[in-house]
Amino acid sequence: MPVAAQRPASALLGQIQARWLKEPTRHFIDNQWVENATSQTFDVVNPATEEKLATCPNGGKAEIDRAVKAARKAFESGPYSRWSGRDRGNFLRRLADLIEKHAEELAVLECLNNGKPIGELRAVDLPLTVQTLHYYAGWADKIHGETIHPPGNFFVYTRREPMGVCGSITAWNFPLVLISWKFGPAIAAGNALVHKPPEQAPLSALRFAELVREAGLPEGVFNVVTGLGETAGEALTRHMDVDKVGFTGHYQTGQLVMKAAAESNLKRVSLELGGKSPNIVLDDADLEAAVQGTLTGIFFNQGEVCCAGSRLFLPKKLHDPFLDRLAGAAESRRVGDPLDPGTEQGAQISKEQFEKILGYIEKGKAEGAKVVAGGKRCGDRGYFVRPTVFDGVQDGMTIAREEIFGPVVSVLPYDTLEDVARRANATNYGLGAAVFTQDLSKAHKLAGMLKSGTVWINCYNAFDASVPFGGYKMSGFGRELGQHALELYTQTKAVWVNLGG
Ligand code: NAD
Repeated sequence: MPVAAQRPASALLGQIQARWLKEPTRHFIDNQWVENATSQTFDVVNPATEEKLATCPNGGKAEIDRAVKAARKAFESGPYSRWSGRDRGNFLRRLADLIEKHAEELAVLECLNNGKPIGELRAVDLPLTVQTLHYYAGWADKIHGETIHPPGNFFVYTRREPMGVCGSITAWNFPLVLISWKFGPAIAAGNALVHKPPEQAPLSALRFAELVREAGLPEGVFNVVTGLGETAGEALTRHMDVDKVGFTGHYQTGQLVMKAAAESNLKRVSLELGGKSPNIVLDDADLEAAVQGTLTGIFFNQGEVCCAGSRLFLPKKLHDPFLDRLAGAAESRRVGDPLDPGTEQGAQISKEQFEKILGYIEKGKAEGAKVVAGGKRCGDRGYFVRPTVFDGVQDGMTIAREEIFGPVVSVLPYDTLEDVARRANATNYGLGAAVFTQDLSKAHKLAGMLKSGTVWINCYNAFDASVPFGGYKMSGFGRELGQHALELYTQTKAVWVNLGG
């Protein structure tokens, strides 16, 4: 996908703002815009300007129930129930092409709603969304069972069947990308879906739904209900006719999702949760490459990345030269207007998140860590935080233990490989980890020792639709992306045939 380097056209910007601000949005159910049963709404805010962008209905039990009924009907008896895998693959390809055609509009919409830089949206979010849909389009007609020959006169075959009606609930940091991670495998496998987007950034999900309809998905197969977590989210996870929920968010919300599933119909659950990921630099690392990797690891997407490398382990020998370079690069990062193609770091998603990050920074200072870059807000309008580097951090400090979900990195010195592996693993999380070294045997040794779903060697935040992603420990379970994600959206049926005689 070619990446434009200029500011979005002002006509497009005006059109998008006018469309979403004009009147309250509606839910997308059965391929139609549907009113809320009550007059409850919530405001959606542009975090770079603090101005209102849209008003959305706060859906609850009634809307979720309506969406689930539409999805059930579509799954059991609608035209979609007769679609072959090839039909689903062709649809996913058409959708990918439509997203590509509307990529600039979607990038601008997401930029306004989320606050992330337009350059990143054009180069990462939109291409990754398109790539994910193409990837699962390829799988749709390749989801097969097996043949088994047990002892006796039997022949057994297995069928990989869709789960049925699935719910998806996502976080606000990559709104569009995270839809594609759930929608792609769910549709490839033949499921129907009810999606609950994040209340902070729901607009791209609504535009996505329109494109889904335009690409020809029959009514009821994909539905979007906007609302708060405790209303729409909770109703979805407790619904007795939802077979599976794919969740991305905070681990404490993940616990609520599991509890709701356990207390309702034992629906299947997969959880993509948070992290406190270690980024380990060995003393033989290529210094410049490791600094670049560290910057990407912690500051990409304003640090609002579940696998952000927020604990930087440095060998004592490299500490000073590395920190000098890192602090200099952090200070010179361009923070500001997300619509400016030169911006490297945009706004944090919300006032709440902004204050939470600043609160962690104050806590770091109060507990004795030293700010060597940033450490404060940026400007006086919008939720901008300076890229922040803390030195002199101890493992037990709050900033070294808790997920900040912002542009804040803690530098932790270490002595030996065993020491760093033990400390890197001394967390309840286990999502990502990175190792920077030129010594391949040390790299692979550490890759085996680290308890996390992903280990990057001499890189950070590399993603591809074909590579599984997910957590160890309290970072969740189930793997999204790659072939593994199909396991989350299919179940296996064994069919025994008595051959007689
Ligand atoms: P969150 O848990 O507050 O919200 C996530 C989603 O859950 C939202 O749509 C929200 O409305 C919904 N929700 C809230 N309460 C609910 C309830 N009781 N029942 C059902 N749904 C409910 O998380 P957030 O603040 O939006 O996102 C930040 C978190 O997400 C961080 O911890 C981050 O690490 C994690 N995350 C993980 C991944 C991953 O792939 N592992 C990706 C992105 C974000």
